[in-house]
Amino acid sequence: MAGSYCSRKTHLPQSAQRSQRNNAGHMMDDTEIERYRLALLQMRAELRVLEDASRESGETVELDQARVGRLSRMDALQGQQMALETARRRQLQLIKIEGALQRIESNEFGECFVCGEAIDTRRLNIDPTLSRCTDCAEKSS
Ligand SMILES: [Zn+2]
Repeated sequence: MAGSYCSRKTHLPQSAQRSQRNNAGHMMDDTEIERYRLALLQMRAELRVLEDASRESGETVELDQARVGRLSRMDALQGQQMALETARRRQLQLIKIEGALQRIESNEFGECFVCGEAIDTRRLNIDPTLSRCTDCAEKSS
């Protein structure tokens, strides 16, 4: 199968791929995309574990109201607010991860959501959920 594919397209392959990469910049190969996809799936799995863990501990606190009484009311409220804030951030992060996974599915991953330019892969390596290039990210903030 591989043999017949090669013999039919002998004059095309490598050079065509390379020039496409050079002028578009954001044409990532499948291996790169797959690496980001796996990183995103890993991030999502970790967040879900944390979410489950905090949900369980949240339930325990409610059941143990009597013991929470030993904390001052302020401490309890502050703790609750921090937990809510953490949960909220986690939700946002999960949404961003889902968005990035969807962009991979629709072959838009690595392109700026606003202007369509390629997002710097060095930035994507740090945060694969990025959906905007540096310029557009600065404009919106
Ligand atoms: Zn942009």
